[in-house]
Amino acid sequence: MIHVSSAPVESDTWQTLLAHSITAPAALLDLLQLDHALLDPATAAAHDFPLRVPRPYIDRMRRGDPHDPLLRQVLPIGEELLDQPGYVTDPLGEQHANARPGIIHKYKGRLLLVVSAGCAVNCRYCFRRHFPYDDNNLSTAEWKDALDYIRADISIHEVIYSGGDPLAANDRRLAWLTRELASISHVARLRVHTRLPVVIPQRVTSELIEALCGTRLPVTMVLHCNHANELDASLSQAVRTLRSAGMMVLNQAVLLRGVNDRLEDQIALSERLADNGIMPYYLHILDHVKGARHFLVEDHEAIKLVGQMLTRLPGFLVPRLVREVAGERSKVPLLVQPVD
Ligand SMILES: *Cc1c(COP(=O)(O)O)cnc(C)c1O
Ligand code: SF4
Repeated sequence: MIHVSSAPVESDTWQTLLAHSITAPAALLDLLQLDHALLDPATAAAHDFPLRVPRPYIDRMRRGDPHDPLLRQVLPIGEELLDQPGYVTDPLGEQHANARPGIIHKYKGRLLLVVSAGCAVNCRYCFRRHFPYDDNNLSTAEWKDALDYIRADISIHEVIYSGGDPLAANDRRLAWLTRELASISHVARLRVHTRLPVVIPQRVTSELIEALCGTRLPVTMVLHCNHANELDASLSQAVRTLRSAGMMVLNQAVLLRGVNDRLEDQIALSERLADNGIMPYYLHILDHVKGARHFLVEDHEAIKLVGQMLTRLPGFLVPRLVREVAGERSKVPLLVQPVD
């Protein structure tokens, strides 16, 4: 496999790598030696939801392959612009589950804190591509409000840093927030849902570890890897750092047509996760978000795929196949039976 050159040098901080993300479709095509016939549709589709991808992630893509599974997750294409009935801007009704600015409280005992509106990468299938994040960039007063909400509800045992991507926030903010949460006695656990270390492994620094793990709260990090090719040596190193700090590391993926919908892709992903001490947690059915229809894997195919994984992998390496249903009290599991 030929990879794009220029592994990041040591002096590349995550902030620099983030700032130097590729946002021009032509630049991405050039880096990967791809046909400029892809440019017009990419430019048109990037109009509503821009291209955004950091260099360390591009470095794991194959040159000259328009079907590369990592490229497909980030390259805007013409299919996004087709109007598809039933594919809407807010499939989960989250714009209404906002209990307070910055809080999404849908399930018992746990809630999401929108710690940072930004993401390091714009994933084309994302159910949040139309989310009004600007309303969720909190002022200091709003942060106090959000913390008051958590303090006042003793049923909340777990706080989940979410976004956007929560690790787009700086370490000072994360450290402050984590200390505030640790001072609330009914909060027992902290969870971080992030894709940032996957696309920029350099995000995992000793400052980050100190910010997240410096209190009494046990920390679980749920990464978001969709394909085995995302787990390169630099990400392995970052995951070792997380685990040696005592974090539990899990993975959630989205089942995506043309990215990870073949049995061999899913088995390779689970095995690569296992090699790195990461437990597969969820495999999500695609949300019916406008512009993402071409990524859909139908339920019956998804159920068969995970059924085949069951007969080939140890049980703990088979993720739970789930979908989000607006108004439901948890993610909804699909019933999977073993398939030869
Ligand atoms: C996914 C999600 C959670 C966490 O669900 P778990 O099943 O505990 O992983 C919490 N709140 C919201 C709004 C979610 O979407
Ligand atoms: S929220 Fe997650 S899936 Fe969506 S664009 Fe950001 S990193 Fe990608």
